[in-house]
Amino acid sequence: MNRVIIIGGGITGLSAANRLIEEQQARQVPLAVTLLEGSDRLGGTIQTQEVDGFLIETGPDAFISTKPWALALCTRIGLSDRLIRTNETFRRTHIVRKGALLPVPEGFLMLAPTRFWPFVTSPLFSWPGKLRMALDLVLPRGPQCEDESLGSFVTRRLGREALERIAQPLVSGIYTADPDVLSLRATMPRFLDMETQHRSIITAMWREQRTVAQRTRDGTSGRKIADSGARYSLFVSFDRGMKTLIDTLAVRLPGGVAQRQKSVATVRRRDAAWDVVLSDGMTFQADAVLIAVPAHRAAGMVQELDAELAADLSAIPYAPSVVVNLAYRRQDIPHPLDGFGFVVPAIERRSLIACTFSSVKFAGRAPDGWALLRVFIGGTMQAHLCELDDEELLRAVRKDLHDLLGIEAAPRLTLIARHPASMPQYPVGHLQHVARIQARAARYPGLAFIGNAYGGIGMPDCVHAGETAAEQVLERVKERDTGFGVRGTGGNSGFGVRGSGKQGEKK
Ligand SMILES: Cc1cc2nc3c(=O)[nH]c(=O)nc-3n(C[C@H](O)[C@H](O)[C@H](O)COP(=O)(O)OP(=O)(O)OC[C@H]3O[C@@H](n4cnc5c(N)ncnc54)[C@H](O)[C@@H]3O)c2cc1C
Repeated sequence: MNRVIIIGGGITGLSAANRLIEEQQARQVPLAVTLLEGSDRLGGTIQTQEVDGFLIETGPDAFISTKPWALALCTRIGLSDRLIRTNETFRRTHIVRKGALLPVPEGFLMLAPTRFWPFVTSPLFSWPGKLRMALDLVLPRGPQCEDESLGSFVTRRLGREALERIAQPLVSGIYTADPDVLSLRATMPRFLDMETQHRSIITAMWREQRTVAQRTRDGTSGRKIADSGARYSLFVSFDRGMKTLIDTLAVRLPGGVAQRQKSVATVRRRDAAWDVVLSDGMTFQADAVLIAVPAHRAAGMVQELDAELAADLSAIPYAPSVVVNLAYRRQDIPHPLDGFGFVVPAIERRSLIACTFSSVKFAGRAPDGWALLRVFIGGTMQAHLCELDDEELLRAVRKDLHDLLGIEAAPRLTLIARHPASMPQYPVGHLQHVARIQARAARYPGLAFIGNAYGGIGMPDCVHAGETAAEQVLERVKERDTGFGVRGTGGNSGFGVRGSGKQGEKK
């Protein structure tokens, strides 16, 4: 029997467990799988709560469908008919400029415009700012480099205003990062590739959009599905929220596989196997251990085993964030809520990073006559705000919602979710850092580090990381059973750090 222990019951750990169990059941692979989760619930960052008719997401509220792994998992586990798309009517976002909400011009995707008139006529940018962005069309390629920060890239190609007014707030809404530190290679490499291949980002995006538009013409009306900001047409959720995925994965695991309130303290090598020691001293033995917890937690687990590996793991920086959900009577919000929400540039100096109009973005989030808003605070650039107590936090949130949406009324319901050190930051050089961890981890047969700290923070990346690590275990079992593989020799067993290997535009 091959004993596999997965540490951490977030989406990464659950995806790994599910993949192992799928193969065990389909092909009678001799495996004993145990998932150890420190808290009393599965899902990690993913949590949906149903309160008084509101469907409240305190972590992710959607995932992107262009990275195929989460969608493919949903199909395999029978969730296809539970998936819902974003509301087609208001697929756009707003950006705060001098205290007013202005829509991102239609066709402006993340960093650059793909349509002329909406961009030229938008009050979001000054005329000098627009002209500087247009310079991208004639500027030569920049120096070829391995990696570059988002801030350096956008300033170089599109100008400072493009960075401050659109790239920083849109990207901060995703990575909660400082753009002058965030690695473009590790997060949105396609923009670096666009410059290499097409020189101009605007030209490259315009060409890409033309192809996409041809493919996504609505068959019945012939109408193009418009997006602005993030590509909202590509995002999906579930009719009853993100917990649908977690609950379904949990139910599929045979009894006894997922064990809650089992907090792991240390992972030790013993002969050719592993001891997984809990904080209460209880010990599990395993042939393979997949560590699917935040890197700073993983570091503590392997400190005794390899201090250098632990130091590299704990050097991956994390940012805290707070998500506050607020419910209002629709009539108490003077703003038309004609979008999926807004993002706030750091130069606006507000407490909020972003706000999602949840009841507009997805159906079934609030009862008729009510609106559900979800605001984000903190991130790397305003981490200190996460220290505020609930009362101070709500005061700051309500002030911004008053100034920006004109809301005077008190919310009828509030739910504050704190995510301390939960968002890994990918600084310039992140991929090399991960490669170093990977090389070091390869010394230990059967040990793998998986999760959002390494190869992508989005749910699809996490699913992919978990499934890939599970497949590596299965490969190893197969090799051993057929007498080909040699275990415990200290050679590279094919384990190590499992990320998605590919990073993309959005989580
Ligand atoms: C506020 C917020 C919003 C987000 N929005 C989106 C979004 O809209 N779309 C998207 O795709 N992604 C989004 N993300 C990112 C995505 O949710 C995460 O990257 C992903 O859920 C991480 O999953 P994970 O399993 O790797 O880690 P986690 O969810 O952190 O799970 C790790 C698990 O390990 C457990 N654990 C920790 N220590 C121990 C221990 N010692 N012993 C045992 N167990 C332990 C924890 O309790 C936890 O259950 C968001 C993230 C945040 C914070």
